[in-house]
Amino acid sequence: MSADSSPPPSFICDAMLGGLARWLRAAGYDAYWQYGQHDRQLIELAQCHHAILLTSDSGIMQRNIIRDGTVRALFIPQQLDRYQQLAFVLRRLNLPLIEPRCMSCGGCLKVIPRDLARPHVPPKAWQFHDTFFRCQRCGTVLWRGTHWKRIAERLAHIDDYFPHLTSNED
Ligand SMILES: [Zn+2]
Repeated sequence: MSADSSPPPSFICDAMLGGLARWLRAAGYDAYWQYGQHDRQLIELAQCHHAILLTSDSGIMQRNIIRDGTVRALFIPQQLDRYQQLAFVLRRLNLPLIEPRCMSCGGCLKVIPRDLARPHVPPKAWQFHDTFFRCQRCGTVLWRGTHWKRIAERLAHIDDYFPHLTSNED
């Protein structure tokens, strides 16, 4: 396997996997998703960015460029919910939870001085929290509020969602 120093993988998600993309970002992995991208565009993006293509489309998995390993891809069984999908990806690729990224865009989150956060957050959030983060890609300001904690709680138990699949998957 690769050395510990290798950067964490990033992902390209197919049209059906928008929810998975958001949760991969919460788990710390950069994930691209856009509505209505064609298979060919997704494969090119994965190749160009050395990213792993995630797809629930068995047709994509049959493409030569995927079969010969030029582009790495993981087939996500259909009918899993987004938590099962995330558990599946993390366990199949043996990936730990790492520092959360922005769920909207996948950018890294950086702590910013509290005063800089003030114009961007509701007064109550500013009053009750000491640490604020800014997404380095889209500029969104975040804090560890109720929403964040609910996500963290779900992630802490994500392995419980690993799907028990019947054995007709190849
Ligand atoms: Zn962002």
